[in-house]
Amino acid sequence: MSRLNLAGHQSWKELVFIFHLFTSIQSYFHPTFDWIPSTNKPSEVASKKEIPEKYFVHAKRFAGKLLLKEEIPLDASEWSELLHARAFEAVNSIEGHWWGWRCRRCGNKLRRQFANIPCARCNETHLYCRNCVGMGRVLQCQPLYVWTGSPPEWPVQENVCRWEGQLTNAQRHASDRIKEVMEAGNGELLIWAVCGAGKTEMLFEGIGSSLEAGKRVCLATPRADVVRELLPRFKQAFPDVSISGLYGGSEDKTGDGQLVLATTHQLLRFARAFDVLIIDEIDAFPYHKDPSLPFAAARAAKKEAARVYLTATPRKEERRRIDSGQLESAFVPVRFHGHPLPVPRFMLSNRMKKSLRQNLPPDNFFEWLKHRQQPNRQLLIFVPHVELAGKMEKAIGLVLNNQFGLSAVSSVHAADEDREEKVRQFRNKQLNVLITTTILERGVTFPSVDVAVLDAGHSVFDEAALVQIAGRAGRSPDDPDGEVLFFHAGKTNAMVASVRSIQAMNKRAVRI
Ligand SMILES: [Zn+2]
Ligand SMILES: [Zn+2]
Repeated sequence: MSRLNLAGHQSWKELVFIFHLFTSIQSYFHPTFDWIPSTNKPSEVASKKEIPEKYFVHAKRFAGKLLLKEEIPLDASEWSELLHARAFEAVNSIEGHWWGWRCRRCGNKLRRQFANIPCARCNETHLYCRNCVGMGRVLQCQPLYVWTGSPPEWPVQENVCRWEGQLTNAQRHASDRIKEVMEAGNGELLIWAVCGAGKTEMLFEGIGSSLEAGKRVCLATPRADVVRELLPRFKQAFPDVSISGLYGGSEDKTGDGQLVLATTHQLLRFARAFDVLIIDEIDAFPYHKDPSLPFAAARAAKKEAARVYLTATPRKEERRRIDSGQLESAFVPVRFHGHPLPVPRFMLSNRMKKSLRQNLPPDNFFEWLKHRQQPNRQLLIFVPHVELAGKMEKAIGLVLNNQFGLSAVSSVHAADEDREEKVRQFRNKQLNVLITTTILERGVTFPSVDVAVLDAGHSVFDEAALVQIAGRAGRSPDDPDGEVLFFHAGKTNAMVASVRSIQAMNKRAVRI
């Protein structure tokens, strides 16, 4: 700044400075991640400094990550040897601009999300990012480390995909498009597939051919439940591929697989790692609300990566990009078993609020329960908030047991420690009824359920949530129907829009 002489003639130095200033402002608003050093070709590494062969194994573990020193579990001598050989490079954790900062780990640039703290090492006060402090505090004086040794080499194998199922015509069409984009690289594709379209199967072929080509692939999804559900399926489909499953609390912490299944939050530790990045449920909370997640996703993919997005309920932004031709898309309007999506029924109850205050469902819920089409189906009850889930379990457990023979009733919510176990029990039909918040609105598949939404007009149930919730029913070819009921105290736009959207998809499915 001080070199800029605004009063006098502008020298070439000043013009260079202005150019830098301009590009700096631009990269602040549209991050290019040019600060990430790339891995070196093996020949360059050898010529720089000899890296012992045994350290090549570290490439799989550390390449494509952005790590604090504490997150690199190497002993001191190994660490200094690797640093000396320039197999790791340090980068600033926080970018300082004279108009603000940006945390390079989470992308945060909100002033109020930065704070100062005294640093014992430097005897100074430093800035740190409060937004990603949950991942371990990173002070401005602490660098993040990037692997710059040799790139990881994945085994060259043929026929890695052992999945033997058949794709439907609609799935085949999407699968071919996915494969093309993945093979070509450097492109984006959005797959708009209804709930229950069988999107995982559509990915297998493209992922298989990418892995065979020695590419590294990541499938990121917003929810840990989904990672847990997908992991065994992918291990079965790709038995000879190293696969990592990463989510908060996962056993695997290394993330050294060629194929990584992760929650979107886990991408906050990756940088320029993946040749193929698939983002499941691109529209889902928390992805669309938390700007650090798109930031991390953009950084986790290599520059020339292929990006595939999956959604059953695209948001306005994606629809706008599709309509304006900026985003390629493929549409899968039909479920894999060919049956239409169950259309929700509205059940008006004027006493809704009163019942909920007593932690009870409205009267017409019990009326409906008496006359269910298939009393053998399990029952998923969605409620608008956490407290209600637990209280309602206590309040109606006995009634459901005594009057309806539904003996095993439980409830689950996001912070529930037993959430994983309860979902597993419900899937294994050890539970008859599960009362849940919107955490089970998507991603989870139960073969034969009826779905009731209590207080469907509540603001947590937006159009996308209601479409997803309705999409839990009728997933299995053995029981493709399932009832979906929206119990409400007055129709909302979201409720009406969700039903219209489901009907529109069913119409479109008939045409293909
Ligand atoms: Zn310090
Ligand atoms: Zn941060």
